[in-house]
Amino acid sequence: MRTKVVAGNWKMNKTIGEATALTTELLLLYQAEVKNNAQVILCVPFPFLGATSTQVKGSPLKVGAQNCSEHESGAYTGEVSAGMLKSLEIPFVILGHSERRQYFGEHGALLAKKIDSALAHGLVPIFCCGEPLEIREKGTHEALVKQQVQEALFHLSAEIVTKIVIAYEPVWAIGTGKTATTQQAQDMHAVIRKELAAKYGNNVAQIIPILYGGSVKPDNARELFACPDVDGGLVGGASLKARDFIEIIKGAG
Ligand code: PEP
Repeated sequence: MRTKVVAGNWKMNKTIGEATALTTELLLLYQAEVKNNAQVILCVPFPFLGATSTQVKGSPLKVGAQNCSEHESGAYTGEVSAGMLKSLEIPFVILGHSERRQYFGEHGALLAKKIDSALAHGLVPIFCCGEPLEIREKGTHEALVKQQVQEALFHLSAEIVTKIVIAYEPVWAIGTGKTATTQQAQDMHAVIRKELAAKYGNNVAQIIPILYGGSVKPDNARELFACPDVDGGLVGGASLKARDFIEIIKGAG
């Protein structure tokens, strides 16, 4: 059985003071109330990685970054490498988030390189895929998501691909308050798992966690996470409020 994963994506929010206060509150609530063994990850902005890691040390919570460069090092002003993240002992990194795809032009081949760099440094990539509204309305969403998965992941060996976490995030549900129905989520997760099984075999496909992202809230988390192929969530807005995020985590057990 796959362990559930609940990752918060703080995006470009909070000051260091606010970030520290949120993590403090989360740790208190987590210790008092969370009884399940879901893996909880806080994907915080780059400047807070060190401080948040220090805060969560010794707790079950882990820290993730929201992006990394495809390059090892060098003259890439403003970029952060996977090696730098590793040197801070950051275990997870989100790659291919729809906001990176939309605003920074990140797509297939580039994402494949970023995945490789993260894996080479022992980081676990949380690879995001998902279709925009017009694609869903055209009915070609399954084909697009399969293509996103193939382009970024299918160069990996069966052994290595098991180190990945996938997050299916329909773009029309991100930050909009519009959640995919449990049926829509389950259907696409099953499509992704089937695609993985076709390439790598069913044993490998059954190992890989597939998270749902898109307006996950305390009142819809439990139902979404109960779908057979939904292994937890990637949570944006609701991860910025300790009470909401804790309720979502509780929905994973
Ligand atoms: C996200 O940014 O990955 C996300 C799912 O955001 P939200 O939960 O706010 O829709």
